[in-house]
Amino acid sequence: MRKITIAIDGYSSTGKSTVAKHLAKDLGYVYVDTGAMYRAVTLYAIRKGYFGSADKNVEALVNDLPKINLKFVFNEGLGFSEIYLNGENVEKEIRTLNVSAFVSPVAEIQAVRVKLVEMQQEMGKEKGIVMDGRDIGTVVFPQAELKVFMTASPKARATRRYKELLDRGEQVTYQEVLENVESRDFIDSNREFSPLRKAEDAIEFDNSDIGLQDQFERLHGYALRLINKK
Ligand code: C5P
Repeated sequence: MRKITIAIDGYSSTGKSTVAKHLAKDLGYVYVDTGAMYRAVTLYAIRKGYFGSADKNVEALVNDLPKINLKFVFNEGLGFSEIYLNGENVEKEIRTLNVSAFVSPVAEIQAVRVKLVEMQQEMGKEKGIVMDGRDIGTVVFPQAELKVFMTASPKARATRRYKELLDRGEQVTYQEVLENVESRDFIDSNREFSPLRKAEDAIEFDNSDIGLQDQFERLHGYALRLINKK
């Protein structure tokens, strides 16, 4: 059976990773959450004191890039991969609102993007991959056979993310989460390098009112059609 590349891009908290993970599992494909990579670099920068409410030391972070080692390790129990930063599992820590507050400014840095895009292209060179992010269909894999661009209203997205953070035990308000979602979308869409935009050949998918199972079935249908294409 032919293997394809599936690129899923879109705004923050559109539920890209949830549906991408399901799809990868069903197809027996590798799943890569590129947001986790930008988040892990951001966590490194925060810990080093390079990024914080009063700090933004781009030069120090860029100089440290060769020292930042990222790896995905498959967790059998969970059924998906977790990200390691210099040998430490940081899967939980990268999802906090504190990391979310600095990730878009870090993701604007060209040298950071060059390093991560190179890693992503290497991971996907054999195809058989589902990758989600902001620039997968436009920059990382412009030749991907299936490109999906996910959208949902800011309110629907903030509600999802708010619930997720509460479930993880974070003390946050809905307003803080909404502001973070809106500010990330603004920075991600307006940055100079690889801004978030829909690839011309991507299928647009508004999932404000669509449940996970329906989303999965639609994307799975698109994928199978391409995989079985002669
Ligand atoms: O997908 P997630 O919301 O975890 O991504 C966190 C942030 O990482 C985004 O808001 C964006 O700034 C950045 N990102 C990016 N390019 C990607 C994936 C994520 O710039 N391919």
